[in-house]
Amino acid sequence: MYTSNADTTPRLFLPDSLAADQPVALSEAQAHYLGRVMRMGPGDRLRLFNGRDGEWLARLDAVGRKHAVCVPETQLRPQAPDPDLWLAFAPLKREATELVVEKATELGVARLCPVFTERTNTSRINAERWRAIAIEAAEQCERLSVPDIAEPVRLPALLAHWPADRPLAAAIERQPHAMLHPLGASAGLLIGPEGGFASLEVELLRRHPFVVAAGLGPRILRAETAAIVGLALLQSRDGG
Ligand code: SAH
Repeated sequence: MYTSNADTTPRLFLPDSLAADQPVALSEAQAHYLGRVMRMGPGDRLRLFNGRDGEWLARLDAVGRKHAVCVPETQLRPQAPDPDLWLAFAPLKREATELVVEKATELGVARLCPVFTERTNTSRINAERWRAIAIEAAEQCERLSVPDIAEPVRLPALLAHWPADRPLAAAIERQPHAMLHPLGASAGLLIGPEGGFASLEVELLRRHPFVVAAGLGPRILRAETAAIVGLALLQSRDGG
């Protein structure tokens, strides 16, 4: 006989503090989702998290077209630390970029660092959209936080400000590098743009002692595949 381990109670992120019996207001979009899409009403239960106070089971108190109020009742899980893993990547075409944001969130990344390289053909990022995608992925994958989104910077600035004690695995294709291996509790992964890193950029990377040049196997992966595979490899030791 199978036992279902699915928890279908809706799970929502919100910025407010969560504490027992302290009512919180939900956003208009959340009110719409609960009332119209899920057809929930007063007394129904949902789960809430805010990245600080763990996860709470809450009771929906009121739900209207644009407003909903709910009351946290019991804490289901205390806040626990995330894997201390940062992903720096060159923004890609919109769909591929959004895939990376979603998958990196599912894979526990604490910080997303958009980085512009010589061959990046986008000059802006839509941080608000990235955040919305990250929130939705965090809600779905049951993590207790939403990754930070750093200010976009050019590659030299990323390296100049990178913490020296945080190894940065730079995924560089077509070189006989050892396969990427886990680098310890605090680490970063750098993935280049669709066109790869320019040779001067590879040289620049090599000049930084915290950079570990790493391979992802003999085939040339699309950047979005490389990000997902690299994150999985970095987490393969402790199950992050
Ligand atoms: N157009 C380039 C490939 C870029 S792949 C070329 O033909 O050479 C996009 C990014 O994914 C690269 O910058 C690198 O960071 C990563 N990547 C893809 N395949 C890789 C591999 N086999 N090893 C390491 N990094 C890889």
